[in-house]
Amino acid sequence: MTRLSEHLRQATPVVAERGEGVHLYGTDGRRYLDFTAGIGVTSTGHCHPRVVAAAQEQVATLIHGQYTTVLHRPLQRLVEKLGSVLPEGLDSLFFANSGSEAVEAAMRLARQATGRPNIVVAHGGFHGRTVAAASLTTSGTKIRTGFGPLMAGVAITPFPNAYHYGWDEETATRFALREFDHLLQTVSDPDDTAAILVEPVLGEGGYVPANTAFLQGLRERADRHGILLVLDEVQTGVGRTGRFWGHDHFGVRPDILITAKGLASGFPLSGIAAPEALMHKARPGSQGGTYGGNAVACAAAVATLEVVEEEGLVANAAAMGARLRSGLEDVAAKTEAIGDVRGLGLMLASEFTTPDGEPDAATAVRAQQAAADEGLLLLLCGPWGNVVRMIPALVVDEGQIDDGLRAWAAAVETATA
Ligand code: PMP
Repeated sequence: MTRLSEHLRQATPVVAERGEGVHLYGTDGRRYLDFTAGIGVTSTGHCHPRVVAAAQEQVATLIHGQYTTVLHRPLQRLVEKLGSVLPEGLDSLFFANSGSEAVEAAMRLARQATGRPNIVVAHGGFHGRTVAAASLTTSGTKIRTGFGPLMAGVAITPFPNAYHYGWDEETATRFALREFDHLLQTVSDPDDTAAILVEPVLGEGGYVPANTAFLQGLRERADRHGILLVLDEVQTGVGRTGRFWGHDHFGVRPDILITAKGLASGFPLSGIAAPEALMHKARPGSQGGTYGGNAVACAAAVATLEVVEEEGLVANAAAMGARLRSGLEDVAAKTEAIGDVRGLGLMLASEFTTPDGEPDAATAVRAQQAAADEGLLLLLCGPWGNVVRMIPALVVDEGQIDDGLRAWAAAVETATA
């Protein structure tokens, strides 16, 4: 009998039959409140009628219009639509299918444009599972182990992870910037450094937001040394953090922006945006791919961006995020087991720790499983797997947040009993 590889362990016991909004319906006949959103992908909820209609219409019109062969309307419409949400000056786009591919595209572009070999990554970052993207990933050894040697030319600089270091944010930031300067002086000379690659909020690495001083400090150093600042907004983009882009919280403009996940509500689509003068430096033919910018995915992305705008989903993410955060803090206040609640917008997490402050994955797993029993689907993250994250679709409403919080409070009580 054939089977799905056992290496692909499901985080929940659910076999999903159908999805609608923030709910998944299992073959067990149960309805689940989905606070995973397919790892932050179904931004407009499962099967939003506008996205479904756009995709259905496109399927009947043109499924595949391979973009290095012919242009097609959904791609043109998406380029135009993204123009209204992209940071000023990032006027040139390239599309691929997954976050990992877009990360690779950004890395190739940075190296070709600067003629420099090295990419500096912030410690704890997750950038994907292709060999190159895994080489840039430092959120956990499970992504990197057993298939090396990894790609050369990667240097790791600290992220201002204040909770992890047990410092205040200012001390953590000063340390991180000083270590970046140190790295440029001792490991990777600016003349050899193509880019610094960072997430505005560490995602798989534990839902740790960056801060203004850190990102502005990187921006200033990048400008000084001709290094490109590349922001991986695969998880933080398209409203997830309560602003359209994660970096909008910090007033920092990237040279290359990477997007995927929430962009097309579940259809595989990713992209990078950069100034045309920079994008132009990619060697002809070095970027491309058979399926990137697929017509149905582009049509779904256009519908997604329309829904995000017309339904005010960025503002909703901010408001529902604040409500969820306050509820998570209330739950944390009642137990010693949760050491920290953090995140931005609807990208929130609770970190489980032992009484002496060590990572406590066992309790986190129990809480996640108890939540599934309560009908609430959640994912873990962080290097030790002790961080429970909540990333509901941006359409979530107050009643659903409160339902989620009730289930979470019950799950934490079960897990810590
Ligand atoms: N970058 C970030 C920040 C991500 O969160 C992810 C996926 N979790 C990726 C890149 C990789 O995306 P994909 O799985 O689509 O390749």
